[in-house]
Amino acid sequence: MDLSLKSLTVKTLDELNLKPKKKLGQNFLISKVVYKKIAESIIKNADLIHPEILVEIGPGLGYLIDELKNTNYKLIGIELDKKLAQFLKFKFSSEKVEIKNQDFLSFNLNSFDKVIVFGNIPYSISSLIIEKFCKSYKSIPYAIIMLQKEFGDRLIFQENLKFSSRLSVLVNLYFDVYKHSVISKEHFWPKPKVDSILIELKGKKSPPSKSIEYVTNVLKVCFSMKRKTIWNNLKYLDNSVYKEELINFFSSHMMLNRRAEEIELEIWKKLFSDTFI
Ligand code: SAH
Repeated sequence: MDLSLKSLTVKTLDELNLKPKKKLGQNFLISKVVYKKIAESIIKNADLIHPEILVEIGPGLGYLIDELKNTNYKLIGIELDKKLAQFLKFKFSSEKVEIKNQDFLSFNLNSFDKVIVFGNIPYSISSLIIEKFCKSYKSIPYAIIMLQKEFGDRLIFQENLKFSSRLSVLVNLYFDVYKHSVISKEHFWPKPKVDSILIELKGKKSPPSKSIEYVTNVLKVCFSMKRKTIWNNLKYLDNSVYKEELINFFSSHMMLNRRAEEIELEIWKKLFSDTFI
């Protein structure tokens, strides 16, 4: 823990007359060492990728921007908390940093060609943020985000992973997912109950050729009742253009009687490539 960053955080929030809001997941990262590590990874990847912009989700008090503002990259910080956004606008008024007081979930990433996205994000919307990344996968060659440890662990693909989830399949179709490092809860203020994990996402060289809408819809259907077999999830699907196609596919792989969570990533990849029929 970095005592100086902790006292600076407490002091600044006090001056702004702000109390950390649970609803907005406000657990501030107070370790300079961790900030430096995150910034290093962002810069290393940016130098390889040459992104149009760097986008931070929920910059809070702007400590990560402090580490990045002297690079040549254009930065956008998207902060939902009005007072924090005002503070950030003032703090970075003379830098080439743009602060938007907006919900990241409604920020359009698709208009950019290449974006690097990162942040110590509000955990209550982690799943929605990851789904958003998948929907904008063409624009995101690299992302690094902080997640709750258990949640992040479940997204990392392991050869012998017994059960997958809809989100772990989805994210692993579009990104290679890596563990960067585990971050102890001691490095946050207020101190959360659980540890965190930094996860890196790197855009896959060959993502599904089927549309993202198709992929997300099919996964939703197949995982809709997790304890039931694929067949049970598909059989009541009325009409749906793809009902027959899906039944044929899973039956030809002898998987109609398996649960979606037991199906290997390779099978999903095959289903979502254009070549399976
Ligand atoms: N990144 C900072 C703050 C982490 S706390 C740090 O590490 O210290 C999470 C931050 O995300 C808070 O600043 C919170 O106000 C902001 N936030 C919460 N929901 C958001 C949303 N939907 N879009 C953008 N920012 C959000």
